[in-house]
Amino acid sequence: MIYDIIIIGAGASGLMCASQIKNKSICIIDSNPKIGAKIKISGGAKCNITNKIMGIDKFLGDSNFIKSYLERFNEKDLLEFLNTNGVYPNLNPKIVKGTYFCNSSSDVINMFTKLTSHCKFRLSTKVLDVEYGDNYIIQTDKGDIEGKKLIVASGGLSYASIGGSDIGFKIAEKFGHTINRLDPALVGFTVQKDQFWFKELSGLSVDVKIKVLDKTVVGKMLFTHKGCSGPAILTTSLYWKKGNFSIDFLPNKDSYLPKRFKQQIKDLDIDLRNYIMAPAGNFGYTKAEVTKGGISTKEVNNNFESKLQKNLYFIGEVLDVTGELGGYNFQWAFSSGYCINN
Ligand SMILES: Cc1cc2nc3c(=O)[nH]c(=O)nc-3n(C[C@H](O)[C@H](O)[C@H](O)COP(=O)(O)OP(=O)(O)OC[C@H]3O[C@@H](n4cnc5c(N)ncnc54)[C@H](O)[C@@H]3O)c2cc1C
Repeated sequence: MIYDIIIIGAGASGLMCASQIKNKSICIIDSNPKIGAKIKISGGAKCNITNKIMGIDKFLGDSNFIKSYLERFNEKDLLEFLNTNGVYPNLNPKIVKGTYFCNSSSDVINMFTKLTSHCKFRLSTKVLDVEYGDNYIIQTDKGDIEGKKLIVASGGLSYASIGGSDIGFKIAEKFGHTINRLDPALVGFTVQKDQFWFKELSGLSVDVKIKVLDKTVVGKMLFTHKGCSGPAILTTSLYWKKGNFSIDFLPNKDSYLPKRFKQQIKDLDIDLRNYIMAPAGNFGYTKAEVTKGGISTKEVNNNFESKLQKNLYFIGEVLDVTGELGGYNFQWAFSSGYCINN
């Protein structure tokens, strides 16, 4: 059998894309036994699905490219789409400003299960390679699957334990695409000797304002036994390349420092308003929420089709578009999945 459309990836972008295609000859392949594995665990199982404060300044990537899709399907459109399909996220800006969370991430998965009931799923099926003759031959660990049009929605390298893989980049490279440098992002930092005192504060969370390159990030920083994490650090990791950034441990007029913190730093010479640090590295792809970098967006047209290979499309995180912590990455995945068909 030859499918009209094959989608690699039953994640956020692939499911949104499939929900918009009325064609019944569509096959979705995923190595996970169930759809939407990342949606399921995201936002503490409540899926931080988008953000009220939407703008290209929240993303890394080509701003004109990103802007054109956010204009076509923005956070309001996503919320309306969800409401129409019985999912009602609520504003919950406690940790990051403007964030919308669902009552349960299962609501989103159940919604997509209904909206993709016309599709054929090949789950627990890992894509190994792709060949192109007259059609696309998708080579999997369960045999070949053939289709006329291929949509790659396979995400990035993060969380290999739930399906993260390099297959999207491999396919892109095979057809001549440029892969912009990949790095783990939205991830905690490991520290150098000067910051070993962080480890003594493991479990403690404080408000901070971080300056990293030309960005200012505010929010909570969490000390961990390996270094530091928490929302402000995760967003900092998106912008940090190498070298220093500075932390203001007294970001607000009413900021106070916990007793444990004061005790720990009493013998250290620390500038609390401008503490300079250079991370040793980060916790890597096993802990990173996203992969920064990806397939160059210069090489896809305004419908996500490859400019180098006909009937080949890329959507979602596999492209060189990465958002801050706070629902921006799902917004991108859903915007791209929606816009490819609308
Ligand atoms: C722990 C965690 C929490 C997160 N929380 C949030 C959040 O609350 N809000 C937010 O905006 N973003 C969050 N993110 C980021 C967000 O999940 C991703 O950016 C988004 O899911 C990307 O969508 P995608 O469709 O491009 O890829 P994915 O959703 O990753 O889907 C890709 C799919 O392709 C499949 N696949 C990959 N390789 C193969 C292969 N070789 N063969 C077959 N199938 C394959 C994978 O199994 C996967 O199901 C979180 C990420 C993680 C890891």
